[in-house]
Amino acid sequence: MIDTHAHLDFKQFDQDRSKVIDYAFSNGVEKIINIGVDLESSKGSVKLAQEHDRIYATVGFHPHDAKSLTEESLKRIADLAKHKKVAAIGEIGLDFYRDLSPREDQASAFRKQIDLAKDLGLPLVVHVREAWEQALTILRETEASEVGGVLHSFSGNLEQAKTAQDMGFYLGLNGTLTYPNSRTQSVAREVSLDTIVVETDCPFLSPIPHRGKRNQPAYVRLVLEKLSGLLHPLTFQDVERITTLNACRLFGLNHGFAGRIAYPIRDSLYLNITNQCSNACLFCVRNRTDFVKGHNLRLDHEPTYREVIDSINHANSYREVVFCGYGEPTIRLDLLKEVAQHLKRKNVEVRLNTNGQGNLIHKRNIVPELVGLIDTVSISLNVDDDEKYERLCQPRFGDNAFGQVVAFARESKRLLPRTILTVLDMPEVDLKKCEKLSRELGVELRIRDYNKVG
Ligand code: SF4
Ligand SMILES: [Zn+2]
Repeated sequence: MIDTHAHLDFKQFDQDRSKVIDYAFSNGVEKIINIGVDLESSKGSVKLAQEHDRIYATVGFHPHDAKSLTEESLKRIADLAKHKKVAAIGEIGLDFYRDLSPREDQASAFRKQIDLAKDLGLPLVVHVREAWEQALTILRETEASEVGGVLHSFSGNLEQAKTAQDMGFYLGLNGTLTYPNSRTQSVAREVSLDTIVVETDCPFLSPIPHRGKRNQPAYVRLVLEKLSGLLHPLTFQDVERITTLNACRLFGLNHGFAGRIAYPIRDSLYLNITNQCSNACLFCVRNRTDFVKGHNLRLDHEPTYREVIDSINHANSYREVVFCGYGEPTIRLDLLKEVAQHLKRKNVEVRLNTNGQGNLIHKRNIVPELVGLIDTVSISLNVDDDEKYERLCQPRFGDNAFGQVVAFARESKRLLPRTILTVLDMPEVDLKKCEKLSRELGVELRIRDYNKVG
């Protein structure tokens, strides 16, 4: 887990700073981003980052201190920002709640520092309080989406959250999420988790049960616990992993996310046994990212049987094990069968997620070979006719594919315990027609949001 917003250089930590830092790192915090609020604290932030491997710094003038930003101090910030452990410009923004600097000074300091971030190619750490519309307007006008960043301690509404996300900004959630009646709870449930990071804003905003006392980076765990509770059935580990990846992407931090063969999400274990596919779907997640729910699925080679088996731990502790991943599992049919055999010997429930082209790929009916090995087959039919299938899925087998996928579903229904067809919820797909087809085949139908993967 990463605390993406801490003020460890503040005087509240003068007595025990190194103890607080050690405590965080020995309790699961992997990295801390320490945030500058003026010239002095930006220097302090860089100093902390120099002293500690896993602390990174940001530099900038907080809206409270906007009135003291001069040409000279802006130049000093620019010099500090060149340090290799400076990960962002911030915190900058607008605070019309406390109004500690005149509003025009706040807006002008905000704009100047966005320009600086764009010059340096650094993301922004943005503080906004009671000035959401004004802040979003400035971010739009300055084309801040070029560098993106985080709206820290997010307290806006859902619409503002979505606007910010569309502009490439992450939302920083902290201890306020644990407070009763926090509006951010419903925002957190609605927005994509791929754009959320967690923070403490220590020494302020302690999460419950430490509310009112000094906050510290180790308490970021309490924010994650609250967030994963809100996002159930995602687990704490799911939410921790995804938000850590988000923070690394946001601040350009290297975290060594190696390609995964076995990867848990919720209470299932997924197996990524190939990166090859016989389709080239226009909507495929592989066109956009290497990551699904915080797991890197881009493999540097096709895994061997041994590698797959070694990647599976405690198969019995999952509800099911699913052949899925970043490609079409039946392309590796022999490996799939061997691994499934190994799992069935342990009485594990096994599912195959497939594009239904196994028979085309192997030029024979492979379904009988899956009997006793696969309990559930989930087939991505995606659309309702062959013209749409060819256009959207671009199968290697051309206009032969759609009919063969349907035939695969029919055969699977005949021989295997459970068959599910999945189709995409998009305007051009005729869901009524899909329902009719699944009724005829006697299989279950699942309608899938093509934007949501994993
Ligand atoms: S079938 Fe699945 S893995 Fe293959 S291209 Fe389509 S969406 Fe991607
Ligand atoms: Zn702050």
